[in-house]
Amino acid sequence: MGQFPINIEEAIEWLASFGGELDGGVTRTLYSQPWKEAQQALKGWMEDAGLLTNYDSIGNLFGRLPSPHPNAKTILIGSHVDTVKSGGKYDGAFGIIAGIMALDFLKKKYGQPAINLEVVSFCEEEGSRFPLALWGSGMMTGLYSYKDIVDIKDSEGISFETAMMAAGFVNSEYRVRKDIQTFIELHIEQGPTLEKVEKSIGIVKAIVGQKRFRITVKGESNHVGTTSMKWRRDALHGAVNMIHDLYEIAKKSDEDLVTSVGQLFLEPNVPNVIPNQVQFTVDARHPNESVLRSFCQQFSQQFQEHAKKKDLNIHVEMWHEVQPAQMDNKLNEIIQNICTSSAISFYRMNSGAGHDAQLFARVCPTTILFVPSQGGISHSPLEYTSTKELETGLEVLIQILHQLAY
Ligand SMILES: [Zn+2]
Repeated sequence: MGQFPINIEEAIEWLASFGGELDGGVTRTLYSQPWKEAQQALKGWMEDAGLLTNYDSIGNLFGRLPSPHPNAKTILIGSHVDTVKSGGKYDGAFGIIAGIMALDFLKKKYGQPAINLEVVSFCEEEGSRFPLALWGSGMMTGLYSYKDIVDIKDSEGISFETAMMAAGFVNSEYRVRKDIQTFIELHIEQGPTLEKVEKSIGIVKAIVGQKRFRITVKGESNHVGTTSMKWRRDALHGAVNMIHDLYEIAKKSDEDLVTSVGQLFLEPNVPNVIPNQVQFTVDARHPNESVLRSFCQQFSQQFQEHAKKKDLNIHVEMWHEVQPAQMDNKLNEIIQNICTSSAISFYRMNSGAGHDAQLFARVCPTTILFVPSQGGISHSPLEYTSTKELETGLEVLIQILHQLAY
């Protein structure tokens, strides 16, 4: 390998070497040393490919293939450079690598585009160092501001601002770009769907909305042996009825609705004592906000009724919410036509995971396309997509950009 990679396979290994670990995992959290080295290396590669590079004030890195027209808008492509702790080589990385390779190819073959083409390496998406996710795209879209990072610290007590300054970026006035007309993200699926349906490209219709709840059910502790069943205020008995109904309601909803109780704690958690308190979580997701909202209303109403029947107190608190994001139909149609005419198999699907594209969808026509993840595994050193599948993704991306910008 020379200074810069010459094909996808090399590029994946090259970028994974920044923050790479012995087991094949990658840890490249926001503003860390491997993060800085990766962004600098990508900047070098972009320049080597003849792109005009710059950083914004928070560390998003851009490589631009400019149009000769002074007032031309910009089509932005790319993904995030940060990883989770001990993540894989493909999550985020593939979107940046494919973006650089696509622009390199288009420049060599067709020269200057009519619309600016620009690849971004977002500084942060995962939320794995600080308790804040989608920082790069949040600032770019104007949906976040510096206020969002005040008082935020990592697990070692380092403040967000200190980490940012140490990486060479300053908390100054952020200039939101007005020239972005389209955003397209290429990403690994991070789930098993494409592999199961045996298709090469996932065309995403929507990124699901999420609502997460913490439910606290309170009853009364008492002796298991001496308290008659009819006089008990057993918080767990109430909670199991609620959880049972949650899944029943979900089953009757449409198949895009997913939900789970991922955590359950009971008190005092002693074998011969009736539980006086149960706390559990509900995570519910659906691509349509009104369907999701009505599901959540239904189950919380049902929970209240169970609590009333069993003389229990209940508190339902929503602690996390993400709006669903609809991907652009026109872009998806273009992608579908490209796949059809190139005999590339595709599948229209929703994304159950969050991505930078979900914020861009609120400010400009946006879409995200997936390539398969082997075994559906992601956020793990075992994350894998074959070179052939990555190449197919790159080929589709090149065709989209050629059609849109030349
Ligand atoms: Zn990702």
